[in-house]
Amino acid sequence: MLKDKTAVITGGVRGIGKAIARVFCENGANVVLCYRSNDAEAEKTADELKEMGTEVRVLKGDVADPETAKKIAELIKTDFDKKVDILVNNAGITNDKLMMRMSDEDFTKVINANLNGAFYMMKELSALMVKKRSGSIINMASVSGLKGNPAQVNYSASKAGIVGMTLSAAKELGRRGIRVNAIAPGFIETDMTAVLTDEQKDNAAKNITLGRLGQPEDIANAALFLASGMSSYVTGQVISVDGGLIM
Ligand code: NAP
Repeated sequence: MLKDKTAVITGGVRGIGKAIARVFCENGANVVLCYRSNDAEAEKTADELKEMGTEVRVLKGDVADPETAKKIAELIKTDFDKKVDILVNNAGITNDKLMMRMSDEDFTKVINANLNGAFYMMKELSALMVKKRSGSIINMASVSGLKGNPAQVNYSASKAGIVGMTLSAAKELGRRGIRVNAIAPGFIETDMTAVLTDEQKDNAAKNITLGRLGQPEDIANAALFLASGMSSYVTGQVISVDGGLIM
């Protein structure tokens, strides 16, 4: 479905990003993955993905730093003939605290990584997509950005920002052949949710219509749809993949 396409996936070496990278490679895409700190996981993921026979590049860099997006754009120009077909802004962090205990830094750090990072990446890579008049950008939102969550004003604000940014970018870029959509995952079992106790997970599952937490592959399948020609008439949408958590 993605034969000879090139995809950039931020936070692509573990969790949801890794599942997206795997399904993209299985479908023939070359991938460029960026991560912030986990070198061991990056190397392991790259080795696993390379077995599928497509090009796999891994780049260490903090998306909150605009230089990272510039470095990725440079890699696309030099090594991929200036062609990037898919961007998945997946990198994200949480730093949950009740607002009364949340420092300015706690707030800003999450916004810088989750929202500013996606902006820097969209700005650099959409400039390359515009030249080819085609592309699909997928931004990772969250149910937390749609309905709010206690102790997550920083994270909810970043994810609500992702939704607004997705809609504006979709309107800006549609006439240039670029589609921009977002996915709003519910509770997905990754390192990010591993901090929850079994009791908290059981309680969460009780509020989910399908009665279970999601797996990274549930999100990866939605990303494959949005990345591929299967969604060629879909833009400016926020697709909730949450087992019916909010509806
Ligand atoms: P995860 O398991 O914690 O993995 C996050 C990935 O993002 C890691 O590869 C990490 O790199 C990378 N990353 C974090 N901050 C970065 C930065 N500043 N620069 C570059 N890379 C960075 O998270 P996940 O659960 O897969 O979540 C992926 C996305 O889905 C996030 O945007 C998250 O907000 C969203 N989401 C998740 C859930 C859920 O239930 N899991 C629900 C809703 C939305 P390192 O490995 O180097 O740290």
